[in-house]
Amino acid sequence: MPATIIDGREISAQVRVEVKAEVEALSAQAGRAPGLATILVGDDAASAIYVANKRKASAEVGIADFHQHLPAEASQAEVAELIEACNDNPEISGILLQLPLPAGLDAAPLTAMIAPEKDVDGLTPVSAGRLMQGAPGLRPCTPLGVIELLDRHGVELRGADAVVVGRSNLVGKPVALLLLERHATVTLCHSRTRDLAEVCSRAEVLIAAVGVAELIGAEHVRPGAAVIDVGINRTEAGLRGDVDFEAARDRASLITPVPGGVGPMTIAMLLRNTLAAARLQLA
Ligand code: NDP
Repeated sequence: MPATIIDGREISAQVRVEVKAEVEALSAQAGRAPGLATILVGDDAASAIYVANKRKASAEVGIADFHQHLPAEASQAEVAELIEACNDNPEISGILLQLPLPAGLDAAPLTAMIAPEKDVDGLTPVSAGRLMQGAPGLRPCTPLGVIELLDRHGVELRGADAVVVGRSNLVGKPVALLLLERHATVTLCHSRTRDLAEVCSRAEVLIAAVGVAELIGAEHVRPGAAVIDVGINRTEAGLRGDVDFEAARDRASLITPVPGGVGPMTIAMLLRNTLAAARLQLA
């Protein structure tokens, strides 16, 4: 029987409804809404669209908009000054520095300046360290979205054999740590992994975050596995994931499509992180 398709759009919509209700309750209690500062530097068209989508989704759930736009010529010091100002502004609960930054700006030290309690992207070294140590903190959005999809489908993670393909700081490593936190037995694969298919075929939960279109085929998928495809690859045939969807679907029990799987979850988790950050700052 072909796998059940995990509908990321529907689950994302459910999460947004929940966040909206909680934002309303928190706003009534605190006397003001949680606020999100999206920081866009320069005029990169794709970044501008991503930021516009995040602002629109935030507004829909009642999060106040503190968008900041600096010109492409902004200096490192000017961006740093803006981040400091957002750190100091009590009306701003969360700060998101849209990457990539224009050439000439060094993203790492700027990202690291974001106050950990406002780090709604979960990408600062402090947030990464907290995740590593299993300490409370804000977690990266896409990895959180992966776990949410599995949870909403009732996938048991405790004791499960989980394989993550990809070890980036953005997706692979934090997904692996979140799975570990949930007591899965985790294997992390990368470009030097010997016999990727053999390792993947042991997975009850298989996460692909690689950036290579349709790398994961039928032979990588254990019968009955839950397969989550984070990949977004633009090919001549259109948008493709890292998983060969048709091939994997015949073996898996659950599978995400691309588009419409993990993608819509990233913004939903940003909204939830902004709410969590606002709560942290009120506590
Ligand atoms: P990176 O390029 O930073 O990392 C890719 C990882 O895949 C690396 O660890 C690399 O290994 C590994 N890899 C590359 N080729 C192979 C291979 N042939 N076999 C095994 N492992 C391999 O990518 P990201 O983590 O940033 O993104 C991964 C994918 O997820 C991309 O398609 C991206 O577009 C997508 N993405 C989707 C998001 C969403 O919202 N849905 C959000 C973020 C990313 P090594 O470390 O050895 O080089």
